[in-house]
Amino acid sequence: MTSIPFNKPYMTGKELWYIAQAHARGHLAGDGEFTKRCHAWLEQRTGTGRALLTHSCTAALEMAAMLADLRPGDEVIMPSYTFVSTANAFALRGAVPVFVDIRPDTLNIDETKIEAAITERTRAIVPVHYAGVACEMDAIMSVARQHELLVIEDAAQGMMATYRGRAVGSIGHLGTTSFHETKNVISGEGGALFVNDPSLIPRAEIIREKGTNRSQFFRGQVDKYTWVDVGSSYLPGEILAAFLWAQMEEADAITQRRLAIWAQYHEWLETAESDGRLRRPIVPRECAHNAHMYYILLPDLDQRAALIAELKAHDIQAVFHYVPLHSSPAGRQFGRLGGPLPVTEALADRLLRLPLWLGLEAHQVRVIRELTAALTS
Ligand SMILES: *Cc1c(COP(=O)(O)O)cnc(C)c1O
Repeated sequence: MTSIPFNKPYMTGKELWYIAQAHARGHLAGDGEFTKRCHAWLEQRTGTGRALLTHSCTAALEMAAMLADLRPGDEVIMPSYTFVSTANAFALRGAVPVFVDIRPDTLNIDETKIEAAITERTRAIVPVHYAGVACEMDAIMSVARQHELLVIEDAAQGMMATYRGRAVGSIGHLGTTSFHETKNVISGEGGALFVNDPSLIPRAEIIREKGTNRSQFFRGQVDKYTWVDVGSSYLPGEILAAFLWAQMEEADAITQRRLAIWAQYHEWLETAESDGRLRRPIVPRECAHNAHMYYILLPDLDQRAALIAELKAHDIQAVFHYVPLHSSPAGRQFGRLGGPLPVTEALADRLLRLPLWLGLEAHQVRVIRELTAALTS
């Protein structure tokens, strides 16, 4: 019996061919041919004004925090139920993550709870599109407009997902995404910043290029290349961009196959849901998701632990995630509550993620058989 891992990075088969091309060309630093292709593809597919490859989504969030010009004590509203980088990027600038509860249906930030968390120190809102299902962006953008706040979308899980037909990550002033090997379109480590507000483009390029005007220099817009602002080195080399290009070429096919696996889980688990054994994911009509994740919500922590153990005994790996940030040591030190978080607290112990990767098709029936047996035992 083969073991079924939780994740298995998918390779299209063209990655090494493109890496060989980058190698042959001899341009190994960032912003070469493959990076340009990736940028153009991202801009065309998402509609963002400027896409910039970064080393990770974490790096893109750090760039966004710099672009937001945050001062120590400034506040940034975000969910507590998210990955650490959502908060860390802002804590690094001395800003205070302010944690707001999530919606019970999508587990995304509850847009109706944002306004109550706004103070005169609030500078930005960071919606996280959990599981590639979009947040209620119309409501979030409207609160942001009223209070003159920046919206930075953490679309790490959202590549190829849309909200009312618009790509997630392209709706706020800034958006970030991830190409980590656990995401849908991958380069091992990798990410991108989407600069949707055109006024932020020049500074985004400078921050990414060590605080220099190197990008403008190469376009012939300035005749000297020099230090003009703070910044760091956020651009990945061409080897990584070459790998990523192979993935982008197949992004539609990857998404279609993931959606089929997701739909299969959803269909097979319908009875378990109607029997009251679990709750399946809910996707609002305005969201076209990307099948980043298939999760189930179990009645309680004990049943989740028992289920993980039972699946493990059958060589199937299922995982859970997110210790809510407000209850983590660093979250308590650097952040604060923006209101009560009853949904976050009630859901975090009950969520279980099932294996979802290309190639799982051949084993999926076994996952469901063992899962159903464990649920009914
Ligand atoms: C994966 C993830 C990140 C971090 O992405 P990296 O590319 O690994 O830095 C940030 N936020 C969320 C919501 C994620 O899922």
